[in-house]
Amino acid sequence: MAGAGISTSAGIPDFRSPGTGLYDNLQKYDLPYPEAIFTLDYLRSKPEAFFTLAKELYPGNFDPTPCHYFIKLLQDKGVLLRHYTQNIDTLERAAGVRDDLLVEAHGSFAQAACIDCSHRHDTEWVKSQIDKDAVPRCESCGGIVKPSIVFFGEDLPRRFGQLVSEDFEKCDLLIVLGTSLTVHPFAGLATMPKPEVPRLLINRDSVGERDILNPDGFDFIRTNRDARYLGSCDDGVWHLARGLGWASDFEALLPEKWRERAPLPLDPTDRSSAEAKGGDDRSTDTEYESEAEAGVSSNGGSDTEDDTDAARHRQDVINAVAHVEATVMASEHEAQPAKD
Ligand SMILES: [Zn+2]
Repeated sequence: MAGAGISTSAGIPDFRSPGTGLYDNLQKYDLPYPEAIFTLDYLRSKPEAFFTLAKELYPGNFDPTPCHYFIKLLQDKGVLLRHYTQNIDTLERAAGVRDDLLVEAHGSFAQAACIDCSHRHDTEWVKSQIDKDAVPRCESCGGIVKPSIVFFGEDLPRRFGQLVSEDFEKCDLLIVLGTSLTVHPFAGLATMPKPEVPRLLINRDSVGERDILNPDGFDFIRTNRDARYLGSCDDGVWHLARGLGWASDFEALLPEKWRERAPLPLDPTDRSSAEAKGGDDRSTDTEYESEAEAGVSSNGGSDTEDDTDAARHRQDVINAVAHVEATVMASEHEAQPAKD
């Protein structure tokens, strides 16, 4: 499951960040709060704001990132049960993720309808209106014609509800990429796998952790079930691909500009890794050990508690990688590895 974090390196502007062109463009609409742009009330009062954003985000203006290609790689390896995305940029499709493996939980630009009479309108016509900074108006009633992007208070696409229960019954590893896990019901997916199913978070910040309101949230410290990589999503999937022995397959999918920007392999002799390594003689997955240490030690000092956390964290990441490996081997054993 993925959120906006997998698309930031595509250059998709964050309309919440001061100083970006899009933010400045939207300032003149005086949004009461950033998310108001995705509410029907605000759309009715100042439709220009949403259509300014829509023009900027329209599919075709951006290219997929390494994360999107990593999802394609999971598909090629035959281990992608489903990809759930919050994003409306359709970059998964652009990277070649198949329609049937994709759930665009917050809708897309693929359809458009009047918000008053629900009359469907041709998306090419809607795009042409948006391109010339006009608000698309319904030919029947004059209402605003909105692309089928899910606004706050609107239902998610039927496909989401149809697939969630059967998918999470079968899910044997959940990878959570680039989402703050704050927008529901999407965020709730992270708590839906069975209790023994490993979960791997790849995100800039640690999110979705267990607390009294979220009893099924991640527990990176006390269990070996949950693992996290804190950093950019692109770097995270690179390290995961390498850990799985898929680096060359991954590179083969990537356009050259992304191959050139691969992160350096993590150095197993890295100081922070060596410090906390202690008597551990595990010789594989050193990348993940050092990454785990680096992530933890940059967040805090080197007191005993942090060292213990780091050791657990390291073990969690190793477990997650081992689980992906086992799943891949099982699927290759069973049937058709999607090798080309
Ligand atoms: Zn209408």
